Amino acid sequence: MQTQKNRPAGAVYDNARPYDKPINKVLQSLDSVKKTAPDRWMAKCPAHNDRRPSLSIREAEDGKVLLKCWSGCGAAEIVNALGLSLADLFPGDRYSVTNTGPMRRPFDYRDALQGIAHEATVARLIVEAVNAGQEMNADSLDRLALAEERISDALQAAGGVQ
Ligand SMILES: [Zn+2]
Repeated sequence: MQTQKNRPAGAVYDNARPYDKPINKVLQSLDSVKKTAPDRWMAKCPAHNDRRPSLSIREAEDGKVLLKCWSGCGAAEIVNALGLSLADLFPGDRYSVTNTGPMRRPFDYRDALQGIAHEATVARLIVEAVNAGQEMNADSLDRLALAEERISDALQAAGGVQ
Protein backbone atom coordinates (compact mmCIF):
# COMPACT_ATOMS: atom_id res chain seq x y z
CA MET A 1 0.00 0.00 0.00
CA GLN A 2 1.28 3.45 -0.79
CA THR A 3 -1.17 5.54 1.20
CA GLN A 4 1.57 7.14 3.24
CA LYS A 5 3.35 8.39 0.14
CA ASN A 6 2.91 12.12 -0.22
CA ARG A 7 2.83 14.07 -3.39
CA PRO A 8 5.91 16.03 -4.36
CA ALA A 9 5.65 19.45 -2.78
CA GLY A 10 6.25 21.38 -5.96
CA ALA A 11 3.83 19.48 -8.17
CA VAL A 12 1.33 21.54 -10.07
CA TYR A 13 -2.08 20.03 -10.58
CA ASP A 14 -4.46 21.10 -13.27
CA ASN A 15 -7.54 22.62 -11.67
CA ALA A 16 -9.72 21.50 -14.53
CA ARG A 17 -8.94 17.89 -13.71
CA PRO A 18 -8.47 17.61 -9.98
CA TYR A 19 -6.95 14.38 -8.81
CA ASP A 20 -9.67 11.97 -7.89
CA LYS A 21 -9.80 8.28 -7.19
CA PRO A 22 -10.44 6.34 -10.40
CA ILE A 23 -13.48 4.69 -8.84
CA ASN A 24 -15.11 8.07 -8.14
CA LYS A 25 -14.47 9.27 -11.67
CA VAL A 26 -16.07 6.13 -13.09
CA LEU A 27 -19.03 5.97 -10.70
CA GLN A 28 -20.02 9.58 -11.18
CA SER A 29 -20.16 9.05 -14.95
CA LEU A 30 -22.42 6.00 -14.80
CA ASP A 31 -26.19 5.62 -14.62
CA SER A 32 -28.20 3.55 -12.13
CA VAL A 33 -25.24 2.79 -9.91
CA LYS A 34 -25.97 0.34 -7.14
CA LYS A 35 -23.48 -0.70 -4.52
CA THR A 36 -23.45 -4.48 -4.08
CA ALA A 37 -20.44 -4.90 -1.76
CA PRO A 38 -17.89 -2.60 -0.11
CA ASP A 39 -15.78 -2.54 -3.28
CA ARG A 40 -18.33 -3.55 -5.92
CA TRP A 41 -21.06 -1.81 -7.84
CA MET A 42 -23.47 -2.56 -10.67
CA ALA A 43 -24.57 0.03 -13.21
CA LYS A 44 -26.08 0.36 -16.66
CA CYS A 45 -23.41 -0.29 -19.25
CA PRO A 46 -22.90 2.90 -21.31
CA ALA A 47 -21.45 0.97 -24.26
CA HIS A 48 -24.59 -0.91 -25.25
CA ASN A 49 -28.32 -0.38 -24.92
CA ASP A 50 -28.56 -1.63 -21.38
CA ARG A 51 -32.02 -1.99 -19.88
CA ARG A 52 -30.96 -3.66 -16.68
CA PRO A 53 -27.62 -2.91 -15.05
CA SER A 54 -25.20 -5.42 -16.52
CA LEU A 55 -21.96 -3.65 -15.86
CA SER A 56 -20.03 -4.83 -12.86
CA ILE A 57 -17.52 -2.41 -11.37
CA ARG A 58 -14.91 -3.34 -8.83
CA GLU A 59 -12.24 -1.33 -7.09
CA ALA A 60 -9.04 -3.34 -6.68
CA GLU A 61 -6.88 -2.95 -3.60
CA ASP A 62 -4.40 -0.75 -5.42
CA GLY A 63 -7.17 1.63 -6.48
CA LYS A 64 -7.55 0.54 -10.08
CA VAL A 65 -11.04 0.01 -11.45
CA LEU A 66 -12.06 -3.29 -13.03
CA LEU A 67 -14.99 -3.20 -15.43
CA LYS A 68 -16.95 -6.20 -16.65
CA CYS A 69 -19.96 -5.94 -18.92
CA TRP A 70 -21.95 -9.17 -18.94
CA SER A 71 -23.01 -8.44 -22.51
CA GLY A 72 -19.38 -8.49 -23.55
CA CYS A 73 -18.45 -4.85 -24.05
CA GLY A 74 -14.72 -4.24 -23.69
CA ALA A 75 -13.27 -1.95 -21.04
CA ALA A 76 -12.11 0.49 -23.71
CA GLU A 77 -15.60 0.74 -25.25
CA ILE A 78 -17.05 1.40 -21.82
CA VAL A 79 -14.61 4.15 -20.86
CA ASN A 80 -14.95 5.73 -24.31
CA ALA A 81 -18.71 5.84 -23.88
CA LEU A 82 -18.16 7.65 -20.58
CA GLY A 83 -15.81 10.17 -22.15
CA LEU A 84 -12.93 8.73 -20.14
CA SER A 85 -9.83 6.85 -21.20
CA LEU A 86 -8.31 3.59 -20.02
CA ALA A 87 -5.74 5.56 -18.05
CA ASP A 88 -8.61 6.93 -15.95
CA LEU A 89 -9.11 3.43 -14.54
CA PHE A 90 -5.73 3.60 -12.84
CA PRO A 91 -4.49 5.69 -9.97
CA GLY A 92 -2.38 8.31 -11.66
CA ASP A 93 0.30 9.55 -9.33
CA ARG A 94 1.79 6.40 -7.94
CA TYR A 95 4.76 6.14 -10.25
CA SER A 96 5.11 9.81 -10.90
CA VAL A 97 8.53 10.65 -12.30
CA THR A 98 8.60 13.83 -10.22
CA ASN A 99 8.37 11.74 -7.09
CA THR A 100 11.29 10.27 -5.21
CA GLY A 101 13.36 8.47 -7.81
CA PRO A 102 14.59 4.91 -7.43
CA MET A 103 18.01 6.19 -6.34
CA ARG A 104 16.63 7.94 -3.29
CA ARG A 105 15.34 4.89 -1.46
CA PRO A 106 16.16 1.21 -1.27
CA PHE A 107 14.88 -0.73 -4.21
CA ASP A 108 11.63 -2.49 -3.48
CA TYR A 109 11.12 -5.51 -5.71
CA ARG A 110 7.53 -6.03 -4.69
CA ASP A 111 6.73 -2.44 -5.55
CA ALA A 112 8.49 -2.76 -8.90
CA LEU A 113 6.74 -6.02 -9.78
CA GLN A 114 3.39 -4.51 -8.86
CA GLY A 115 4.20 -1.61 -11.14
CA ILE A 116 5.05 -3.98 -13.97
CA ALA A 117 1.87 -5.99 -13.39
CA HIS A 118 -0.06 -2.74 -13.57
CA GLU A 119 1.61 -1.77 -16.84
CA ALA A 120 0.91 -5.24 -18.25
CA THR A 121 -2.78 -4.78 -17.41
CA VAL A 122 -2.81 -1.43 -19.17
CA ALA A 123 -1.22 -3.05 -22.23
CA ARG A 124 -3.75 -5.89 -22.17
CA LEU A 125 -6.68 -3.47 -21.99
CA ILE A 126 -5.34 -1.58 -24.99
CA VAL A 127 -4.81 -4.79 -26.96
CA GLU A 128 -8.32 -5.90 -25.99
CA ALA A 129 -9.72 -2.65 -27.37
CA VAL A 130 -7.83 -3.04 -30.64
CA ASN A 131 -8.90 -6.65 -30.84
CA ALA A 132 -12.50 -5.51 -30.42
CA GLY A 133 -12.10 -3.43 -33.56
CA GLN A 134 -11.10 -0.09 -32.13
CA GLU A 135 -8.43 1.94 -33.79
CA MET A 136 -5.15 2.31 -32.03
CA ASN A 137 -5.20 6.02 -31.31
CA ALA A 138 -2.43 8.38 -30.27
CA ASP A 139 -3.44 8.18 -26.60
CA SER A 140 -3.16 4.42 -26.60
CA LEU A 141 0.22 4.55 -28.30
CA ASP A 142 1.43 7.13 -25.79
CA ARG A 143 0.19 5.00 -22.95
CA LEU A 144 1.97 1.91 -24.31
CA ALA A 145 5.17 3.92 -24.69
CA LEU A 146 4.77 5.06 -21.07
CA ALA A 147 4.29 1.43 -19.97
CA GLU A 148 7.51 0.47 -21.73
CA GLU A 149 9.32 3.41 -20.15
CA ARG A 150 8.09 2.53 -16.65
CA ILE A 151 9.08 -1.12 -17.05
CA SER A 152 12.54 -0.17 -18.26
CA ASP A 153 12.83 2.33 -15.38
CA ALA A 154 12.04 -0.51 -12.98
CA LEU A 155 14.72 -2.62 -14.65
CA GLN A 156 17.22 0.24 -14.37
CA ALA A 157 16.36 0.66 -10.71
CA ALA A 158 16.88 -3.07 -10.16
CA GLY A 159 20.40 -2.78 -11.53
CA GLY A 160 19.85 -2.77 -15.28
CA VAL A 161 20.50 -5.51 -17.82
CA GLN A 162 23.31 -7.85 -16.83
ZN1 LIG B 1 -22.10 -3.44 -22.30
